[in-house]
Amino acid sequence: AAFRQAEEAALQTLLSCPALSALLHPCVQVVNYAPFTLLPSAVPRALFEQAYAVQQDFNLLVDAISQNKEFLEQTLASTIKVDDFTARLFRIYMQVLEEGLAQTVFLGINRSDYMFDCGVDGTTALKQIEINTIAASFGGLTSRTAHVHGLVLKVLGKTKEASHLLPNNPSEGLASGIAKAWELYGSPSAVVMFLVEEVQRNIFDQRCVENELWKRNIRVIRRRFRDVFEKGSLDDSRRLYIDGQEVAVVYYREGYVPQTYDQQNWEARLLLERAQAVKCPDIATQLAGTKKVQQELSRPGTLEKLLPNHPEAVARMRATFAGLYSLDEGEEGDKIAATAIADPDRFVLKPQREGGGNNLYGEELRQVLEKVKDSPERTSYILMDKIKPQPALNYLLRAHSPLQVSECISELGIFGVYVRQGRELVLNEAAGHLLRTKAVEHADGGVAAGVAVLDTPYLV
Ligand code: ADP
Ligand code: MG
Repeated sequence: AAFRQAEEAALQTLLSCPALSALLHPCVQVVNYAPFTLLPSAVPRALFEQAYAVQQDFNLLVDAISQNKEFLEQTLASTIKVDDFTARLFRIYMQVLEEGLAQTVFLGINRSDYMFDCGVDGTTALKQIEINTIAASFGGLTSRTAHVHGLVLKVLGKTKEASHLLPNNPSEGLASGIAKAWELYGSPSAVVMFLVEEVQRNIFDQRCVENELWKRNIRVIRRRFRDVFEKGSLDDSRRLYIDGQEVAVVYYREGYVPQTYDQQNWEARLLLERAQAVKCPDIATQLAGTKKVQQELSRPGTLEKLLPNHPEAVARMRATFAGLYSLDEGEEGDKIAATAIADPDRFVLKPQREGGGNNLYGEELRQVLEKVKDSPERTSYILMDKIKPQPALNYLLRAHSPLQVSECISELGIFGVYVRQGRELVLNEAAGHLLRTKAVEHADGGVAAGVAVLDTPYLV
């Protein structure tokens, strides 16, 4: 009974979210609550603090990579030969560089994701899964989850525990970054454009950030690539206009999977990248978030070369890296491919894709590697050591799904926000966190992929 009451109370809190006013929009046809855990999950305090402490370093690093043409060119050279999607992004990147950038203000919103790796001796270590440099989501919805879990704990009579939950409001932090970029763009009548999906599955998450901008009297519009293709234009100084409105900031919540792009949408993407408007992210920063770049970063000496004057930042970042391996043609790739085929459960095989559900594990990993091991296609993947967290019990609440207790593991994300004007970084912050939890039987997948659910860390 207490459980039912808690669930109902949690749903009521979610439904009181102001973002639900967006329900009145005629495009919204089906509404489900976002899935969440019944209870907060235990997270080691030291690892949580470590993740926050390294976030500004990662902001600095992503920003440095995005300005380093030589590094991006060298690192992605083997990938773009075999991966058409990365190649097309890269072509746009080169094209805008050749023309000369019109954009002078840069805004990065990323989310660095981690799991808590459990060693044989029972110690836990913070290990980075990846950094998302485009469309990193759930900063909005997760701004509500601590309230939900606080309420659940109170209903269950755990008032003291409820008071231990940390406040968390990434939507505010993300909006501050967007607002700063908008201000530096320097045209008070210009709007912020959220570039959204054709079929919008996560609108309320985006609305939370949007509402924070309206609070600051910044006008927000929502458009799709198709709208940009049909109605977007640049003036002589490459200022971006759509429906007669000048656009100061383009915040991409779409554009990271190949399926998004037909020929017209590629043209729209090029138009946006050529514009003066602040892109969040610009195409260089999207490329900086590829799995191939992540793998190269783990090579000894790479971080030092990218950030020569930041030895402490380099050490903090390196401490979070799991083993990552190149599958490029040659002896190094041959060797690690053979090791992974012999012992697939030690690794994760990753293509250059985002959004969950693309990685390969276990027997499937072995079969795919076996198939591509002697062909150039091998270079479109990277290998990573598999992180093995300690599972814990929780209830995963999802619309239309049966209720049962599951053995779960969690992934912690820290949101990073930075703004650069010319060469000067004018803002560099950690903007809050996201805890996602999934049943152990799912090797892969996030919330949008229908696997993980929203959670709140309970620091221990
Ligand atoms: P995507 O870009 O698709 O989100 P990720 O690298 O984040 O790709 O992987 C997707 C999911 O797969 C992660 O959320 C995590 O659950 C799981 N995963 C990824 N890498 C590892 C790893 N090294 N060890 C264990 N699980 C992993
Ligand atoms: Mg991910």
